Amino acid sequence: MNEIILLKLGELVLKGLNRRSFEDKLQANIHRRLHPYGQFRVYTRQSATYVEPKDDRCDVLGAYEALKKVFGIAGLSLARPCEKDKDAILATAKEFLDTELRSAKSFKVETKRADKAFPMTSIQLSQYVGGELHEAYDNLEVDVHHPELTVYIEVRDYAAYVHAQAQPGAGGLPVGINGRAVSLLSGGIDSPVASWMIAKRGVALDMVHFFSYPYTSPEAKDKVLELARLLTPWTGRLTVHVVPFTAIQEELRRSCPEELFTVLMRRFMMRIAQEVANRCGAKALVTGECLGQVASQTMEALRCTGAVVDLPVLRPCIGMDKEEIVQVARKIGTFETSILPYEDCCTVFTPRHPRLRPMPGEVEAAEQALDVGAMVKTAVDGIERVQVNL
Ligand code: ATP
Ligand code: MG
Repeated sequence: MNEIILLKLGELVLKGLNRRSFEDKLQANIHRRLHPYGQFRVYTRQSATYVEPKDDRCDVLGAYEALKKVFGIAGLSLARPCEKDKDAILATAKEFLDTELRSAKSFKVETKRADKAFPMTSIQLSQYVGGELHEAYDNLEVDVHHPELTVYIEVRDYAAYVHAQAQPGAGGLPVGINGRAVSLLSGGIDSPVASWMIAKRGVALDMVHFFSYPYTSPEAKDKVLELARLLTPWTGRLTVHVVPFTAIQEELRRSCPEELFTVLMRRFMMRIAQEVANRCGAKALVTGECLGQVASQTMEALRCTGAVVDLPVLRPCIGMDKEEIVQVARKIGTFETSILPYEDCCTVFTPRHPRLRPMPGEVEAAEQALDVGAMVKTAVDGIERVQVNL
């Protein structure tokens, strides 16, 4: 018999009202993510979700690893099925959990019995298996309160299952349950982390990247597409809207005060991102901005950039130290790609003395010289959409 995967669902399980949509969305996301690993049956009983391979061709271990990156799953474990017989269960525990049983100092056995026709009670079965394991492993003491290892037994309709405690899942909420946002993805460290943090809260994403060819190279664009691809195990398939940004930057350099260049450029990014959001039904924008990190991330600068859009701007990295952001980037696997040395569009025209505390009035005055609407429209019309997947 094939191993199966047991899932513990995340936080919304407790909130009766949303429980149904949480489970439906999660199941749909799980099915989509399991697709490359074969055909699985996924169903929920008493707040545990079971993922069972339909046949022997399924890659259960591959599926298990993939599910670690699905938001909405709080914990997961691999369970080995066996015949519904106390000695078959004991033998399975010894074989399947041998490594864990050898290395733990204390343990207990916990039984759940869905099949009430099974001839022993849960307590009797736990005592029997626990007693035998205690005899078989010299290193093990029984500790029912704080055991290092818990051996779980489930006696169900067709089989019994043995597993150890759950490993932590990705947590968060199923992607899509909280709507859609547009995330501004640069080639840096922060924006992939920001995207990941918002996806974790159940938000589906569309990515926008501003591309300044020929000032930035095709490799810089490939790097951003690769960052998006690295996020897809969590987010699902992504569309990256690649915006031609060169004309806007050149126009700003030609017509506006140099020290306002960065804040003006960022206002255009926000306007264009909002336009993309309106077209794809997104209800917020996401950036990797972090307070005080660079000149464009003072409170005054954030005010000026936020002022041109009415969608909420989510900035999950705003209060994080760089080191904390790097830690997340390493954990999710984007760091090594983020530090590849390709220039970003922001670095191309960086003013020598950017204004740290721009005033809304002076920024608006500087834009008087521009046909803002036409510039935004031309950029949006030139968008190239790239789909990325695993
Ligand atoms: P990151 O590490 O994410 O590049 P950063 O510290 O370099 O961030 P900035 O360059 O000021 O900061 O950019 C702030 C935010 O603006 C980024 O986190 C990202 O959300 C957005 N952004 C910057 N450049 C681009 C770009 N070329 N395309 C899309 N979004 C961008
Ligand atoms: Mg950047």
